[in-house]
Amino acid sequence: MVHPGKSLSSHQSLNDNHGRAITYLRLAITDRCNLRCRYCMPDQGAKFVPYKEILRYEEMVRLVRIFAGLGINKLRITGGEPFARRDCVPFMQKIIGIDGVTGLFVTTNGIVTASHLDDLKKMGISGVNLSLDTLDPQYFKSLTRHDLLDNVLATMHGCLEREIPLKINTVVLEETTDENILSIAGLAKQYPLIVRFIEKMPFSGGNGFKNGGTEKLRQRLAGLFDLNEVHSVLPTTARIFELPGFFGKIGIIEGHSRKFCPTCNKLRITPLGVLKTCLYDNGVLDLKAMLHSNTDDAVISKAIIDSVGKRYVNGLEAEELCTRRDEPSMASIGG
Ligand code: SAM
Repeated sequence: MVHPGKSLSSHQSLNDNHGRAITYLRLAITDRCNLRCRYCMPDQGAKFVPYKEILRYEEMVRLVRIFAGLGINKLRITGGEPFARRDCVPFMQKIIGIDGVTGLFVTTNGIVTASHLDDLKKMGISGVNLSLDTLDPQYFKSLTRHDLLDNVLATMHGCLEREIPLKINTVVLEETTDENILSIAGLAKQYPLIVRFIEKMPFSGGNGFKNGGTEKLRQRLAGLFDLNEVHSVLPTTARIFELPGFFGKIGIIEGHSRKFCPTCNKLRITPLGVLKTCLYDNGVLDLKAMLHSNTDDAVISKAIIDSVGKRYVNGLEAEELCTRRDEPSMASIGG
């Protein structure tokens, strides 16, 4: 959503130590989820953060103001499942109006999202990313451990009916069949949406998926489709392709291959209020501790600038230098 009336003059620009402009913040507002996707979380015993330890909405509003003042203009609300946290929509209504914010997006699994779509449309949401790995109800149930494919489809159709810009995120696992890829891609043939196929990454919450990530996705898709790459405006996470006879487009997110690090413009805040400057780092700044010790906005801004000034050059370097005790779940980071 663009707020043409807003002045950007008071906002700085935030650059990292490798010359990349940082304009995008992903806020994971909870680590809880109403699905248990096998590649993301264990069925039982997922370690969730106690509710009292996650950032309050007022704290996140304050942080968004600070980040917007530094030059962040694009926000994404994610989780866990963002709509599994109470009052997610009123929170989004608050932050969409913050000076400097020109785009508010949400990433969701679509399980309870359909009932919020009128509110999202009304507030001027910039886009919805909907996670959907298969159109086969049995496989959906086996992947997510819930028999709720119809809920996700209702969210998809609800977005299309309301003309909310829609992207479908599909994680491609070792076990994912070509038929599955072709049927999900068929959504882009039929509807004006972008289906993005995602490499699986090693963020599975210690659920037994110990074989790291999947790569070579591009070669796999090139074997299935006549890919014609669309010139994308940088920075971009996905490479987007047009296909003959398709209403929408398909794309590839080569996160595990670290293909988009050279133009990465993203920061992340975890539900515990920790700043991450790379998906593969262990967190670089405890924002919650600063908020809880009555630190001034100016001091917090300075600490953010300092952290961004020490960013890893790419996800390979971050992974190499940050030893992890346990494999985290993507739900604790937000994707
Ligand atoms: N609950 C929301 C959803 O499902 O979209 C937002 C959070 S979810 C963690 C964000 C994205 O991360 C989803 O598209 C999900 O498929 C993806 N994801 C989770 N685990 C992953 C993994 N190990 N590798 C790649 N993507 C993963």
